[in-house]
Amino acid sequence: MHRQDNLLFHQAKVTGVDFANKKVMATGVDPIPYDYLVIGLGAIVNFYGTKGAQENAFPLYTLRDAVRLKDHIFKTLEAVDKDPALIDDGALTFCIVGGGPTGVETAGAMAELLHAVAEIDYPNLPIKERAQILLFEHSPHLLGPFKPKLQDYAKKSLKN
Ligand SMILES: Cc1cc2nc3c(=O)[nH]c(=O)nc-3n(C[C@H](O)[C@H](O)[C@H](O)COP(=O)(O)OP(=O)(O)OC[C@H]3O[C@@H](n4cnc5c(N)ncnc54)[C@H](O)[C@@H]3O)c2cc1C
Repeated sequence: MHRQDNLLFHQAKVTGVDFANKKVMATGVDPIPYDYLVIGLGAIVNFYGTKGAQENAFPLYTLRDAVRLKDHIFKTLEAVDKDPALIDDGALTFCIVGGGPTGVETAGAMAELLHAVAEIDYPNLPIKERAQILLFEHSPHLLGPFKPKLQDYAKKSLKN
């Protein structure tokens, strides 16, 4: 953005907006006056009131979430490798809630991880026979806002 001579960047946390006086308050800088204000603060995880989800699920929104999930999956595979009885408790069953883009992508990535990586790295684990990926979606179709052709394609690809 160097060629934009009317643009300023601040690394700062916005703590408030004075709408009456059209000023943005941020840490470490003086209040910033504005004519028009665009707010693009992103989204946070929504558990839709599902009981236990916040305490027990692994949300996937930030890089930190992704690393935490990856660590959990590999720790689980390590644990099952040492103690195959854990499979009967569901240790090779991976549940993904939400059949939107993130859930569909995660289900596909999980399948790749299990079959292209884990089957080779853990040759003693019965991944082909026992591993399951369960994708839950409460509406009738995956990828709600997409065209039916793409919804069907995603479903068929995941089933394969
Ligand atoms: C797992 C996953 C996979 C995805 N894959 C894709 C994909 O393949 N293709 C695609 O198009 N989209 C994908 N998305 C969606 C895409 O990431 C989001 O739609 C997009 O990032 C939204 O952009 P945004 O600018 O609204 O919010 P964000 O990208 O969340 O940006 C908001 C920014 O605001 C900052 N902020 C928040 N509060 C404050 C504050 N008080 N003061 C200052 N700064 C603040 C945050 O630090 C952040 O940098 C994916 C999302 C997820 C979770």
